Amino acid sequence: MIDLSRRRMFKLAGTLAVSALAGARAQAPAPSSRMRLILLGTGGGPTPKKLRSAPAQAIVIGDATYIVDCGNGVARQMAMAGLPFKSIQDIFITHQHSDHNADYGNLLLLAWATDLAHPVNTYGPPPLVNMTRLFLELNDYDIQTRIVDEGRVPLAPLIMAHEFTTPGLVMQDERVKVSSALVNHPPVVPAFAYRFDSADRSIVISGDTTPSDNLIRLASGADVLVHEVMHLPSIDKLIAAEPNAVRLHEHLLAAHTTCEQLGVVAQKAGVKTLVLSHFVPGGIVLDDATWTDPVRANFTGQIIVGRDLLEI
Ligand SMILES: [Zn+2]
Ligand SMILES: [Zn+2]
Repeated sequence: MIDLSRRRMFKLAGTLAVSALAGARAQAPAPSSRMRLILLGTGGGPTPKKLRSAPAQAIVIGDATYIVDCGNGVARQMAMAGLPFKSIQDIFITHQHSDHNADYGNLLLLAWATDLAHPVNTYGPPPLVNMTRLFLELNDYDIQTRIVDEGRVPLAPLIMAHEFTTPGLVMQDERVKVSSALVNHPPVVPAFAYRFDSADRSIVISGDTTPSDNLIRLASGADVLVHEVMHLPSIDKLIAAEPNAVRLHEHLLAAHTTCEQLGVVAQKAGVKTLVLSHFVPGGIVLDDATWTDPVRANFTGQIIVGRDLLEI
C-alpha cells in the first residue's frame, strides 16, 4: 500500500517491532519470562525451626508464581521474597505430610484476604479435594465476614483442587509443562516429585523420597534438581539419648536420602545443578562442607546448599 497514513505506518512499525521481539524471545527468553526458582523453606520435618522455614518452593515465570509444597509459614515466606499473592497461578503438593501441606489452605485463604481474586488450580495426591472442602468449612466464618465486610468475591469457586494417584503429565499452560514421578516415601503413598519444563530451563523438585529410579528418570538431564537430604551422623548424635533411637534411624533410612546416596542419584540423573534442601536435621547449624563433602564424593556437577529465600 502506498497511501498508508502516518499513524498506520507507526502502527505497522510497532507490530513489526513486537514480532521481532517475540522472535528474539523464542531464542533466548527475556529476563521477565525466565523461569526463576526461589526456595521459600528448606527445613525438613514438622517441627517449627529457628533456622529454616518448612518446605516450600516458588517457581516464577513472568508474573505467574507456581508454588510447590506449602509448609508452615509459606505465605509469610512469599511476602519475605517479595512475591505478590495475586501472582499465584497453581499450587502443587508432593505428598500429604504436614511439613509439606500444613499451610496449603492457609496460603489460599491469606492470599485471598490480600489480593488474590482469580481461579487457582491445586494439584496433589488424595485427600486433596476433601482437605480443600474441609478447610473452606473450617474457615467459613472468616470467609463470609470478609465477603460482606470487604466486598471480596467468594473463595470456594476460585479453588479447583485436582487429585491424582498416577504419574505423568500434571498440567501444561503457555509458560510451563509440569510432570510427575512416583517416589518412595513410606508409609505415605502416593508421594510425587515434580518436573517443570519451560522455554529456558528445567527444574525438578524431589519431595520426600529414598533414592528413587523414578526420580532419576524424571530428573534426567535437568538443569536444576532440588532434592531432600539428611546427614545421618548428625541425626544419630541428636537422637542417641532417645529410647526409640534405633527405630527412628531405621525409619529415616527407609523414607529419606543420605548425602552419599544423593550424590549417586544426582550423578545418575546427570543434572547440571543439585540444590540441597529439606535438611534433616534442619534445626542445628552445620557448615556447608558437612553437607556437600559426602555428596561431592559421588557427584561431579554444581552443588548449592539451599537456604531460605535463596533464588537460583
Ligand atoms: Zn518432609
Ligand atoms: Zn514426608
